[in-house]
Amino acid sequence: MKKRTKILATVGPASDSLEMLVALIRAGVNLFRLNFSHGTHEQHLRVLQNIRIAMEQTNLVVGILQDISGPKIRIGNLSHNFELFEGNEITFVEESIVGEQLSPSSYRVSINYPEVLEQLKVDDYIYLYDGIIRTKVISLDGNSVKVLVENRGILSSKKGVNFPNTKLGVDVLTGKDRDDIAWGVKNGVDFMAISFVQSAQDMRKAREIVTALGGTQHLIAKIEKFDAVQNIDEIIQVSDGLMVARGDLGIEVPYYEVPNIQKMLIHKANEASIPVITATQMLLTMTTNQRATRAEISDIANAVMDGTDAVMLSEESAVGDYPVLAVETMVNTIQETEKRYAYYKLGEFTIKDSGDTINESAVRLSCDLDTKGIFSITSSGASTRKLARYRPKKTIYAITHDSQTRGQMTLIWGVIPLMSVRKESLEMILDSLMIRGLKSGAVKKKYSYILTAGDPIGKTGSTNMIRVISKDDMYSY
Ligand code: PGA
Ligand code: MN
Repeated sequence: MKKRTKILATVGPASDSLEMLVALIRAGVNLFRLNFSHGTHEQHLRVLQNIRIAMEQTNLVVGILQDISGPKIRIGNLSHNFELFEGNEITFVEESIVGEQLSPSSYRVSINYPEVLEQLKVDDYIYLYDGIIRTKVISLDGNSVKVLVENRGILSSKKGVNFPNTKLGVDVLTGKDRDDIAWGVKNGVDFMAISFVQSAQDMRKAREIVTALGGTQHLIAKIEKFDAVQNIDEIIQVSDGLMVARGDLGIEVPYYEVPNIQKMLIHKANEASIPVITATQMLLTMTTNQRATRAEISDIANAVMDGTDAVMLSEESAVGDYPVLAVETMVNTIQETEKRYAYYKLGEFTIKDSGDTINESAVRLSCDLDTKGIFSITSSGASTRKLARYRPKKTIYAITHDSQTRGQMTLIWGVIPLMSVRKESLEMILDSLMIRGLKSGAVKKKYSYILTAGDPIGKTGSTNMIRVISKDDMYSY
């Protein structure tokens, strides 16, 4: 049975072999995430080559999302693990040192972005180790910041540091990020995810860099900072997609706000006809267990019901013991949830242009005329995204001659991407499409279909026609 919600799986040491990638694609992965917080360009290139071989072996299309790490703030190395207690003091210093214990209750550590220290005020919170250890600023003196530890925990080298409610004066695209983006453009990834975005300006900057390199990658804004949530409307206007990056987001905003933020982000992305990924800890216990918790299964189901385009696996598929089982668990959960999905979101969105109206009408016709599927002929993918936001129960086939558009369609809810050869006329595309579809068994003569396209073909965003290919017309193919 098919599923409509897409699965994005992070590749890591547990899943980078050709054999594993093939197994993951067969199990239902639609896109792979290459996480540039880890690994070298050579390692990522090997993975990319393996994914491309896996696509040929399975005869299935998967997309590639390159996750640009951004300014992940970390403490430096420590001389040993610090066992911290409530009331201990830590001094963050500007210079690069090996962190050390100064007395039974005080420590000194360095940080990889010392300029952040200048933005802090007394009473600001600093969270260590991905939010596990909470500390509060008690004094500042020009080039160091002293904090009081508020709860017990063990701190080790290079752990992440978060500054909720502090506007950081750091560039979201580091020198490393720029090199990584150049790698992604050169190697033709489909998406780049930009981490720790704070404003639309950050996304514009990323776009400038990609465009200057001649890239046409789609850019996903990872929403994981409190100010990204506040600036969401302007960020959406300049982004090709969103990620609800719940890992860092749940540290940056109070954890209990994350579910409502997830719903808000998904709704806004649907409204804007851009894809949205729900990420992090979806099946965390499956990193080391063969079974998920009930709560994790509900989390996936709820993200599907919220309207997410894709759900993501992180360590579960990157370093876990059961990557294929994790994908199968997601597939089963998605399929069952989609039995009771609220399809046909007709009349639910603001209509902004004729493309919106035409695609909504196509979805309505696909339902009213009892068709089997919708063919959306697209060059940029824009019209297929508009179609998909109405969540038709019928399968959407995106037909494109552009291989990057095909890759980008892997993320869109309910869409099966297909490649067409460039043809002069719509009639010719349709003919070859039907002949190929009938031959492969994907299209059947006993069903009717809906077709949307822009005629003449090849002009981006110019959907201007809907055609009903009724089963009585099928004899001509
Ligand atoms: P990360 O992003 O896995 O790159 O940190 C996702 C998140 O923060 O949830
Ligand atoms: Mn993150």
